[in-house]
Amino acid sequence: MGKSPRRRYHHWEREREAMTPMPDILIPEFMDKPAVDRLKASFSVHYEPALHSDAERFIAAMADCRGLIVRNGTQVRGAPLAAAEKLVVVGRLGVGLDNIDVEACAARGIAVIPATGANAISVAELAIGAMIVLMRGAFYVSDRLRAGEWPRQELVGREIFGKTLGLIGFGNVGNAVAERAHALGMIVQAYDPYVPDNHPHWSEKGAVPASLERVLAESDILSLHVPLSDETRHMIGAAELARLKPGTMIVNTARGSVVDEQALADALASGHIAGAAVDVFEREPIDPASPLASAPNVILTPHLGAMTVESNHRVSTMIVDAVTAHLHSIRR
Ligand code: NAD
Repeated sequence: MGKSPRRRYHHWEREREAMTPMPDILIPEFMDKPAVDRLKASFSVHYEPALHSDAERFIAAMADCRGLIVRNGTQVRGAPLAAAEKLVVVGRLGVGLDNIDVEACAARGIAVIPATGANAISVAELAIGAMIVLMRGAFYVSDRLRAGEWPRQELVGREIFGKTLGLIGFGNVGNAVAERAHALGMIVQAYDPYVPDNHPHWSEKGAVPASLERVLAESDILSLHVPLSDETRHMIGAAELARLKPGTMIVNTARGSVVDEQALADALASGHIAGAAVDVFEREPIDPASPLASAPNVILTPHLGAMTVESNHRVSTMIVDAVTAHLHSIRR
């Protein structure tokens, strides 16, 4: 009697693995299924979306993996990184690398590969949408209408057309925001000391380079698009907020710690800042005791900037390709 198809498959798989040992890939956070399946076609994959929050089991799983794929919830540093003795590549399903000890990885020859640019459109659309919602102020009254109210006079909003948008950071997301804001008739100026004034992106995206002082002094809306680093931590604190015009709106889709949350909550409470849309927090999930949780005129979203079907697809395709290529190059 012949072997069953399932048994034959296992037999073939064992032979293949014996001939060409396949590296293991650990994915301790959410990744879309088609991308995980693509990896499984070539590698042995341990996919467990909540594993990053189970410290003991996560460290144990790290010991076996050669490839690691994370979003921003996994801390790739300290004990888990030390345990990952076979690790050669970390794929990041996003762009901020503040959850990865990049220097320690470099010292051990571990490649760290972000999905550069792949989620910029989604983050930019969230930021632009938030600007319109903040300025218009029209979208908070469904319950009042259901209760029989018709608060038309009190909801006279403001246009974003003709307003000055200040960007801090003019990389992939900053560019995508500038391009969209410019198309909507905004005046866009950005502070980014690492992008030369003669870079073609300024004119292509309809933005002008500006000092931090000018951005703070002239913006009607301030939108943050810098990575979190020693240089950018709390770069928007009480002093910077005080230099903004009264009534300025703030959009933070960068990293929570770029802003001093207490200072922002105070500025919202005083009315100096008219409204804020905050997608990212010093602690995620947001601490219910965070000053922002109880601040007025604030829209809170749970780190959704890159969370769209399209962005997830682009990001995971890019990372699957890059991690696969890296592991194959090491095997040769
Ligand atoms: P990027 O690397 O393309 O651009 C970052 C830009 O910031 C660069 O041009 C850099 O020169 C500039 N910059 C660095 N330090 C600066 C400083 N001190 N002052 C002014 N500019 C400075 O990255 P990106 O793809 O545009 O993403 C930007 C950040 O947005 C990421 O690092 C990440 O933290 C955040 N992000 C959040 C989400 C989300 O889901 N909310 C998604 C994607 C990215």
